[in-house]
Amino acid sequence: MHADVIDLRSDTVTRPTAAMREAMMAAEVGDDVFGEDPTVVALERRTAEILGKEAAVFMPSGTMTNQVAVRVHTEPGDEILLEAEAHIYYYEVGGPAALSGVMCRLLPGVRGIFGAAEVKAALRTWNVHYPKTKLVCIENTHNRGGGSVWPVERVAEVAEAARAAGLRMHLDGARLWNASVASGVPEREYARYFDSVSVCFSKGLGAPVGSALAGTEEFVERARRFRKQFGGGMRQAGIIAAGALYALEHHRARLAEDHVHARRFAEGLATIPGVELIGGMPETNMVVFRVKLLPAEVAMQRLAAAGLLVLPMDTDSLRAVTHLDVTAEQVERAVEIVRKIVRTEK
Ligand SMILES: *Cc1c(COP(=O)(O)O)cnc(C)c1O
Repeated sequence: MHADVIDLRSDTVTRPTAAMREAMMAAEVGDDVFGEDPTVVALERRTAEILGKEAAVFMPSGTMTNQVAVRVHTEPGDEILLEAEAHIYYYEVGGPAALSGVMCRLLPGVRGIFGAAEVKAALRTWNVHYPKTKLVCIENTHNRGGGSVWPVERVAEVAEAARAAGLRMHLDGARLWNASVASGVPEREYARYFDSVSVCFSKGLGAPVGSALAGTEEFVERARRFRKQFGGGMRQAGIIAAGALYALEHHRARLAEDHVHARRFAEGLATIPGVELIGGMPETNMVVFRVKLLPAEVAMQRLAAAGLLVLPMDTDSLRAVTHLDVTAEQVERAVEIVRKIVRTEK
């Protein structure tokens, strides 16, 4: 890609830093399916510790961690409750139906966030006709909610309603790191309301590959079996786990910088007539906006031609995501690129 191009499509486009590559090169490795990769073991332990859980298991993707969690918590024919635009439902290729044979019952949310009332409204009484409801999933930060952060009181309220009904709780915390940095609520404080927690190392933290699923020892033991069944048993995975471990230790606090950059980009957009911010100022590293006269696909192509890459969120809205490889100078330049394409449109 041209060095001048500013890539705000996703926080997954980062390249490993030199220090991260060094850590990867120096990683001690073994066969992880035999449980013999010391770097994977170290990453799993450290992740579990940060999340305040007994254990964690390393997997190639966040999709796999979520889908394995759903599989462990359910049996075919069960029902899971999740917000209508949750990643697990929206972006995981129908995984709950294909891999676990479960039904998704969708709850209404505001920027992806719902409350105890929505859970209670979806509860079923016992009836021979009904599927069994097993699980409530929460996504924090919420991707299609524009990187929105769950207030921890909301999580507590949903967890209480779920527990009272005998339901389990899963957290899709692909961007839990961002939620913690933005809210000041430590990861383990969020995590304590959940039976299982997924986290990604390959989003804001900037590692090349990897996610983890945490929970009790017993949960993780079952998750390991499904990871293998789903084809996610890796061998000398320490090479990539070392990048993830490096990212975990060195790139969490700096997410604050991405949040400042997203806010700065949004503030810049707010000064451009013809551009509308959707959902207000960003809470974390995502900015959702609309170039009013243009369909998202067209706006995206014009921006790309001018050197700014973003993704369409819907037919008329775009998403820009700040990350490790975005500088303050690029953010300023990105605003000017949007200003320019809006001006030429008139
Ligand atoms: C990216 C993401 C995932 C998992 O993505 P992979 O690309 O499979 O690693 C899960 N949940 C959310 C909210 C995400 O943004």
